[in-house]
Amino acid sequence: MPEIAHDALTAFAAAKLSELDRQSLLRRLSPTHRLDGVHVERGGRRLTSFSCNDYLGLSHHPAVKAAAAGAIETYGAGAGASRLVTGDCPLFGELEARLARLKGAEAACLFGSGYLANAGVIPTFVGEGDLIVADELSHSCIWAGAKLSGAETVAFRHNDAEDLAAKLADRRRFARRALVATESVFSMDGDIAPLDEIGRAARAHEAWLLVDDAHGLGVIGGGAGAPGHFPGVHIDLAMGTLSKALGGYGAYVCATAPVVELLKTRARAVVYSTGLPPANAAAALAALDVIEAEPERVAAPVARAGRLTRALNLPPAQSAIVPIVLGEAERALAAAAELEAQGLLAVAIRPPTVPAGTARLRLAFSAAHAEADVDRLAEAVRPWLAGAGTDA
Ligand SMILES: *Cc1c(COP(=O)(O)O)cnc(C)c1O
Repeated sequence: MPEIAHDALTAFAAAKLSELDRQSLLRRLSPTHRLDGVHVERGGRRLTSFSCNDYLGLSHHPAVKAAAAGAIETYGAGAGASRLVTGDCPLFGELEARLARLKGAEAACLFGSGYLANAGVIPTFVGEGDLIVADELSHSCIWAGAKLSGAETVAFRHNDAEDLAAKLADRRRFARRALVATESVFSMDGDIAPLDEIGRAARAHEAWLLVDDAHGLGVIGGGAGAPGHFPGVHIDLAMGTLSKALGGYGAYVCATAPVVELLKTRARAVVYSTGLPPANAAAALAALDVIEAEPERVAAPVARAGRLTRALNLPPAQSAIVPIVLGEAERALAAAAELEAQGLLAVAIRPPTVPAGTARLRLAFSAAHAEADVDRLAEAVRPWLAGAGTDA
């Protein structure tokens, strides 16, 4: 009997795989040795990467690595249990206080990853009988959290606060509680949400606002004191990751003290999951030290992205991310292969990560890139731009 189940499952998987392959949507892992912030070794070749989210090069910063190694010596390799049992390593409270201060919030709650944060936070505050209105380009984990919550979920047009207000006007009255969710910097487009307008629409309809700052922290909203803090915008749930500009792993949500206390006692991704490895908290604390001490490092990724958009006559970069939308998946794969042949790694991003017909090279810039790297990339991308719109 087990054999029959095995065969049926294997046949199902094989059929799925060949269908994905026919559509150029099959994804394969490619072992990649990251040598430093921007150089990688892949398939025996050294490449300059424009696909890492390590915007400040902190994954390989000596002080960050030393802090992680030190924490392993002191606290061990793992937390040993969920935080509510014995896994609440003293570094976690220290990091939470630090993140709350950075974001101008009362408190913070750590999560195992950004994916777990959104999947855990959303169902803590809304459920059946409630409403979620999320930007249509929101990250997969926001939709996962929405689905887990059981709340009615509606998408609003990307970065369109008027459409958000219309959706709220239409559906809010049927819901007990409502949550608006968006990203500060969109992960695949690099554009920035009009948070003041979105915040106003949310408040006008008595909806809470969750902002995913995965690609903002440490890159946008620069003033030396508060990278990632949006003055003047009322954000109820300020979520972000430790895995992008901070160069490590883990995530957080900043909010008022009671909101954070409720998360710590009710969010299933906190209650039923092991605490972060202590080394991740130590690395994040060291990364925050670097960010606060080196504003010029924080400013560099957007400056590099701007250098590329100027060179290619594209709309000015708003963040460290620049999309080169090429249309069909095959075209994005072909562009990525040609760049790789020139020693440049720009992984093709295909549906369902991005909408059908908008496969792209998603270029991510780092403080660790030299200006000459950016110029080399611009020349390699230029020939692909001429026909960029042709199959759209
Ligand atoms: C990367 C990302 C996440 C997930 O964060 P991880 O820490 O990598 O799990 C969540 N939201 C957005 C917008 C992201 O880009």
